[in-house]
Amino acid sequence: MLCMRILVSDVMSGRKQYVDLYLNSAAAGHTEKVQMCLKVIRDVNLCNEKGWTALMFAARNGHVDIVKLLLDHRCDVNIMNNIGQTAADIATFWNHNHIVSLLKDSDHAVDGKAFLNFPSSQKAVYTSDDILDRASDKRKDKQWLEEQMMNKKTQFIIFVGLKPMAIPLQGGNSQTNNGVILKLVTINSDRILDILRGKPLVIFLGLEKGVISQETDNRAWFAIGLDSLSNEKQEHIEPGSIVVDMFPTFINLPKKEARIFSQARSLIAWHDRYQFCPTCGARTTVEDAGYKRTCLNADCRSNKGTHNTCYPRIDPSVIVAVVSPDGRQLLLARANTFPQLMYSCLSGYMEPGECYEDTVRREVYEECSLTVSYIQYYGNKHWCGPSILLIGCLAYVTDTDLKIDPEELSDARWFNRKDVLKMISHNHPLGLFCPPEQTLSYQLIRSWLTAISKL
Ligand SMILES: [Zn+2]
Repeated sequence: MLCMRILVSDVMSGRKQYVDLYLNSAAAGHTEKVQMCLKVIRDVNLCNEKGWTALMFAARNGHVDIVKLLLDHRCDVNIMNNIGQTAADIATFWNHNHIVSLLKDSDHAVDGKAFLNFPSSQKAVYTSDDILDRASDKRKDKQWLEEQMMNKKTQFIIFVGLKPMAIPLQGGNSQTNNGVILKLVTINSDRILDILRGKPLVIFLGLEKGVISQETDNRAWFAIGLDSLSNEKQEHIEPGSIVVDMFPTFINLPKKEARIFSQARSLIAWHDRYQFCPTCGARTTVEDAGYKRTCLNADCRSNKGTHNTCYPRIDPSVIVAVVSPDGRQLLLARANTFPQLMYSCLSGYMEPGECYEDTVRREVYEECSLTVSYIQYYGNKHWCGPSILLIGCLAYVTDTDLKIDPEELSDARWFNRKDVLKMISHNHPLGLFCPPEQTLSYQLIRSWLTAISKL
């Protein structure tokens, strides 16, 4: 890959002088100045207009200590300058063979420190299983949608004021937050005909795959959003049912129901927030079986062109397993809103203009004053709180000296493998624990535990 990373923001903010000092210091062999600059610029791979990185300058001039320092900061040895040379190519040309060896071995071991074998998750569990065919081509076909709604095989799930109707099952499970297993109320149209006649918010979720062999007969799923529901009607729909909070409902559902719930809850919450046009304030109406809202003011500019206020929102956010420079410690933190004693990975929303690596660097620095060096993508999953796309990453930091932002976190600590094993198995002597297995945070923590066991 070619390095084209001098950023406009660097120049505008005055950071450019540090980028120049960083590269010049690497070329001159000033180790302390390189370290100082890294604390300011926080990106080990920055380069000049010719695509030369600090690693290339150090390799050009044979500065072994700086090469080792940059490798310790997880610099990318595969970056090429504008004429296609890597740092190893440059070191080879200038006969710095000891540096060539260091660079060629860096994938496996650098000065005794090894990269974690942290494989990317191809498929995030719990909510990503491909259970429903969304059949988006049917969303404008009102007659087909009406027929599906009246089909006895069709299943509805019901939300009252954004909360789902569910049935508490006997038994309980120690893995869940409150020990109660829930099952969503799923019914056909027979018991909700009067509700349907009242034209509530109805969202077509999709066709369940594999239920019936003939595709045209696949079972359809819909969600209904109600503002309120009397106890009498609730009992009529499903005796013994309850209207429950989203959490811990979401993590206490069977996997298939969690997937359907996640989609439905996100859409219901979006409709709740967009009943009035964000552009002109007029009322909006539901279209495309619940996947679009159109402003009723014919003169509104949202009716011309494409506008993200007309379609369901998804908010990207990063969640990061932050590890120490040697990979042997994991940073876990408590947000002020977490359940008592629960520690999780750092997370934060992406801001406009950022790629996910930028967000990882910014969030880790904002929350803990730690500088990220190397970042690896892990996997992603949808989280219906209300509609977040979580992007999971592993991030190395350059040192372990952290300073917590009290507005974001109530605590953050480095943990070793032994402690984290106790936390995820609910055996920690202080009662500390990690999020449940349905979360991406848990998957990241488990993957770090697996990777660290091989070091
Ligand atoms: Zn409008």
